[in-house]
Amino acid sequence: MYRTLEELETIVRDRICSICSVRPETGECGRDEPGGCALFRLFPRVAAAVHSVDSDDIRDYVLALRRQVCSACESQARDGTCEERKQVRCALDAYLIPVVDALEEATGKRFDRKLLAPPPGGVKLRLQAVC
Ligand code: SF4
Ligand code: SF4
Repeated sequence: MYRTLEELETIVRDRICSICSVRPETGECGRDEPGGCALFRLFPRVAAAVHSVDSDDIRDYVLALRRQVCSACESQARDGTCEERKQVRCALDAYLIPVVDALEEATGKRFDRKLLAPPPGGVKLRLQAVC
């Protein structure tokens, strides 16, 4: 199913921002700098990474995101590590499963979620260290 970049971003924003732990009751992003959210700051790369994969294995999408998005992100160190990811401050990584859900809706694909499992108690972004 073909989607424009704008359509993809709208679908993902609707799905992810509505469950994001840094989004207050006002409905706006709770970050001091909403543009700093890596998921949407790098969204064209996120969409391109997904379009570059043709697989039902979610690990292929994770690998594509690491290679095409994280590699261009200022938060990733030269050795491939990322403190934002490590400390659960990145919405792209923290909400990977719902991001995949949203992209599945957009592309009509099915992924094997058994390969990924959310941490016990779910995910909560650590806002204070993000902005
Ligand atoms: S941090 Fe990102 S995912 Fe969370 S509400 Fe803000 S823009 Fe949306
Ligand atoms: S996991 Fe780290 S390197 Fe990858 S997009 Fe998020 S902040 Fe950037």
